[in-house]
Amino acid sequence: MSVLDLARPDILAITPYASARMEASGGSVFLNANESAWAPPGGDGLNRYPDPQPPALVARLAELYGVDADRVLVGRGSDEAIDLLVRAFCRAGTDAVLISPPTFGMYAVCARIQGAQVIESPLEADFSLDADRLLAVVTPNTKLVFVCSPNNPTGNLVDAATIERIAAALEGRAVLVVDEAYAEFTHASSAVSLIDRFDHVAVLRTLSKAWALAGARVGALVARPGVVALLRHIMAPYPLPRPCVDAALFALSDEGAVKSDSHVVVVRQERERMQRELGALACVRTVLPSQANFLAVRFADASQTYARLLAAGVLVRDLTRYPGLGDALRITIGTAGENDRVLAILNPEATDA
Ligand SMILES: *Cc1c(COP(=O)(O)O)cnc(C)c1O
Repeated sequence: MSVLDLARPDILAITPYASARMEASGGSVFLNANESAWAPPGGDGLNRYPDPQPPALVARLAELYGVDADRVLVGRGSDEAIDLLVRAFCRAGTDAVLISPPTFGMYAVCARIQGAQVIESPLEADFSLDADRLLAVVTPNTKLVFVCSPNNPTGNLVDAATIERIAAALEGRAVLVVDEAYAEFTHASSAVSLIDRFDHVAVLRTLSKAWALAGARVGALVARPGVVALLRHIMAPYPLPRPCVDAALFALSDEGAVKSDSHVVVVRQERERMQRELGALACVRTVLPSQANFLAVRFADASQTYARLLAAGVLVRDLTRYPGLGDALRITIGTAGENDRVLAILNPEATDA
């Protein structure tokens, strides 16, 4: 039994579009792709289609995540990988994905667009994930199980032992997708090591958060080469614009990594400070413990607090429509100055004094 036995048979049977860039490489005169022979003003190299999977970027990400390059698929944010996974594994009207709300909204959105059923196994009251409860609702047609750690929007980690148990139990049944968008803000170990043992585990990583590249849309899926090849079958031929690849390589350089690391240190410090200082405010009920770059905060009156912040020009995320978070807002950790502003708006007495 291989993970590919879980994929849609019609997708396995597709002959992928062979772009000019894939069909032939090398050469010095490029007359195979109907490109312009002239670079545009200020756009050196932009007259050429980009590499479908830029080797330098793939190699650097593989190094960063501690895996072989043939286990990395880069795309337009991890959002693209979520969409590709759902389309490759779920037959419309038949198959299902399993999610544990409250969690990241894109899993259910991509599933619904594909016509896949969304099965929910809610997190516990403290937002921990109970492996037995989750496994109890896996149906024969469940093809993807999404686990987000740290979880968005609650901020808590799913412990490694729980993820490993779920992985072991899903072997031959469904793909376990571990979304590690916020991994850099934790000290926890990554689930990528499970891919050595299990061909049905995929891990999502992104440059949008700790690497400060949300505007460039670069994310990665880490999985066995067979899964990477399957998703390439249905991926757009040239997913990554050249300027985005260049920006990513620059951000991932030694110099860029030093900067990113130092910002992660600041975020962790500011997260602990905000946890403490928000927790002491009269309008705050509780601050959920977080391993990510945001805090989910319960307020005595979340809607009023949201409006108060908005009126002062501070945008936060309203979580009140999420199950178990009807009194909560999600506040991203900003610069120390931005965080001070949040505290000042929520604690007018201190400013008056
Ligand atoms: C932000 C986020 C993503 C999206 O990342 P992109 O790489 O920007 O598409 C994925 N998963 C979770 C849980 C996120 O919070």
